[in-house]
Amino acid sequence: MTTVIGFIGLGHMGGPMAANLSAAGHRVLGFDLAPEALAAAAATGVETADSARAAAAGADVVITMLPAGSHVLSLYRDEGFLAAAEPGTLFVDCSTIDVADARAAHEAAVAAGHRALDAPVSGGVVGAEAATLTFMAGGGEAEFSEAEPLLAVMGRRAVHCGGAGAGQAAKICNNMILGISMIAVSEAFVLGESLGLSHQALYDVASTASGRCWALTTNCPVPGPVPTSPANHDYRPGFAAPLMAKDLGLAANALRAAGIDAALGLRAAEMYAAFAEASGATQDFSGIVHAVRDTAAGAPKGTTIA
Ligand code: NAD
Repeated sequence: MTTVIGFIGLGHMGGPMAANLSAAGHRVLGFDLAPEALAAAAATGVETADSARAAAAGADVVITMLPAGSHVLSLYRDEGFLAAAEPGTLFVDCSTIDVADARAAHEAAVAAGHRALDAPVSGGVVGAEAATLTFMAGGGEAEFSEAEPLLAVMGRRAVHCGGAGAGQAAKICNNMILGISMIAVSEAFVLGESLGLSHQALYDVASTASGRCWALTTNCPVPGPVPTSPANHDYRPGFAAPLMAKDLGLAANALRAAGIDAALGLRAAEMYAAFAEASGATQDFSGIVHAVRDTAAGAPKGTTIA
């Protein structure tokens, strides 16, 4: 069945996602503030609209893929945008934003007589292009079922995580695990270096022992053991450090709002924010191993614990 889809935000992620929907035979009305993003989308078969309102008018489903919560909320709070859509339209926000912002966006859509789903993704630009993204969805069962065939066009897996905001919650919790575990793996390699342990020896043991994790076996932060990891390619992303810093910042906001003193999550957010603002600006997030090594080099030698 052909669905008419309004697609707003045709950047690195939204561009290929909209292209995949169009290639699957859906009618996609795309809009982006950047003329070059609009032109690139037009070349992939997306029909271009001259405003977000025009993209929403007459759409069965409106998908947004925008940089941050402020962009999503200012659009959802623009009454002209929500009013342009037929009552009962399904609004699906795939951007990565604060859980609180996602819930506010749901409320705005519902107050305007529509339905909403938050459906952030993991898988990066490569996954958006290859239609292998994983979607984490928050909202009603009926809304998820309705969106599922479209999510299946853009990705390989969609998990319904619960009510409004649950998709964003799953996304930031998962990325908090990833950010912390990458720092843990990096610290282990730096300690191993100081103890005269080769990277390969530590990898051979930890990858088949209880230290095994994705940060080690797929995205290993030191060159050598995993030939496909960004560490072997000048730390080119991959998953860029500024995106990890953004996601950990969202996790830190949620921790503070909930009054949870999660020492590692909060510290990881600080470390990635500093790294992303310095040498990590254009690096894969596994480049954090350099920041860990630099910090370790400056640390005073302490006493041993008896
Ligand atoms: P991007 O900056 O490449 O694209 C965002 C697009 O939104 C831009 O083209 C911008 O012009 C447009 N835009 C901003 N405000 C707009 C408005 N009001 N109306 C219309 N267009 C508007 O960003 P991206 O890399 O595509 O990321 C999009 C979202 O996906 C972010 O929330 C990001 O955190 C998330 N995400 C990105 C990746 C990744 O690897 N890039 C991975 C997972 C999740």
